Amino acid sequence: MDTKALLDFDKNHLWHPYTSMIDPLPVYPVESAHGCKLKLANGKELIDGMSSWWCAVHGYNHPVLNEAITTQTQKMSHVMFGGITHQPAVELGQLLVELTPKPLQKVFLADSGSVAVEVALKMAIQYWYSQGNTKKNKMLTIRSGYHGDTFHAMSACDPVNGMHHIFSGVLPIHHFADQPKSRFDGEWDPSDIQSMRGQLEQYHEEIAAVILEPVLQGAGGMWAYHPQYLTELRALCDEFNVLLIFDEIATGFGRTGKLFAMEHANVVPDILCVGKAITGGYMTLSATMTTDHVAEIISSNSPHVFMHGPTFMGNPLACAVAVASLKLLLENNWEQQVESIHQVLAAEILPLKDWEQVADTRVIGAVGVVKMKAAVDMASIQKQFVEQGIWIRPFGKLIYIMPPFIISDQELKQLIHGMKSVISTL
Ligand code: PMP
Repeated sequence: MDTKALLDFDKNHLWHPYTSMIDPLPVYPVESAHGCKLKLANGKELIDGMSSWWCAVHGYNHPVLNEAITTQTQKMSHVMFGGITHQPAVELGQLLVELTPKPLQKVFLADSGSVAVEVALKMAIQYWYSQGNTKKNKMLTIRSGYHGDTFHAMSACDPVNGMHHIFSGVLPIHHFADQPKSRFDGEWDPSDIQSMRGQLEQYHEEIAAVILEPVLQGAGGMWAYHPQYLTELRALCDEFNVLLIFDEIATGFGRTGKLFAMEHANVVPDILCVGKAITGGYMTLSATMTTDHVAEIISSNSPHVFMHGPTFMGNPLACAVAVASLKLLLENNWEQQVESIHQVLAAEILPLKDWEQVADTRVIGAVGVVKMKAAVDMASIQKQFVEQGIWIRPFGKLIYIMPPFIISDQELKQLIHGMKSVISTL
């Protein structure tokens, strides 16, 4: 198909994320991707600043991941997980249990981040139900969070950014505490936890769990907050008999400079969601992990089973590539990779806060964020980035990069140079 025909069909028939079907934003046809570069149909190469929304930590077309997936295809691409098990799922389970804090021993494999969140919320509700408590079925979260686009996950997203008003007739009503304001790298302000304490004091009898993204809120605003918040929150959850769920779908597997963002505070949740980078971006896969205690409570009371079981649960291709990706992460010395990126981001991006058009800058691990004073025009800024030979996808006032961990120093400098050139024109 020639590019024009491809784009015409796409424009008329394919719905892209968060877009209109009558006035769609331009899309760029990508023909292939290799290392840190996306190759457009016209031959132009773009340095990837997005890791395909946090996933492609090893870059694209990686020989080790290609090999893992092709080898598994020759054995079996899919087989149901009901009544059957297989080596890729077991090996992945072993790795997840090994890499996460010791209390997290039980693994539920699911198919996307949103589903992992749904599973976590159901687990929390079933945990209380199993103990005869049917009142504890609401969630509490902090403002400006993002947990996915399915109904329950969406109801825990920021009520304004998440467009709750459209779906208000269907969404379960959850509780919201203020977003912590203490910066990740700043001073801890003890008053930050007061709103959370207030919500728990008032509503703990109906709250099953607190859910939030530890340390770095992603799609709800790219805000990095002080790890002390998590320490205080863990104590509050224990005090008020409420479970704690960490959504590490975006932050997991090294992105914030720790293997999991919760390690910045050394706090362990009762339930953990991971996804995105788990397969290095090759397949959609997620996992919801929990403690022996939560699993035992759910399993030892009627209905004695956890009520969830997706068709593609434990998909062997996804599990095999996840195993290869996690091993590669460890072999590649991800910590060093992230630290090198961090040094460059901190040196180049933090000073942009003095620019007139910039409201704030934030750098955590291998994530660099520039918050503009005004919202950017997506179509025109995207075009400018492409002209610079880089791929960055801003939203609202936020221009941010989180490149693959394997990015070379030179590619990273080119990426940041292009980003700064475009920002300087705004
Ligand atoms: N939680 C967080 C923190 C996320 O960043 C995302 C995706 N942006 C999700 C959940 C939902 O994941 P998915 O898009 O795979 O359903």
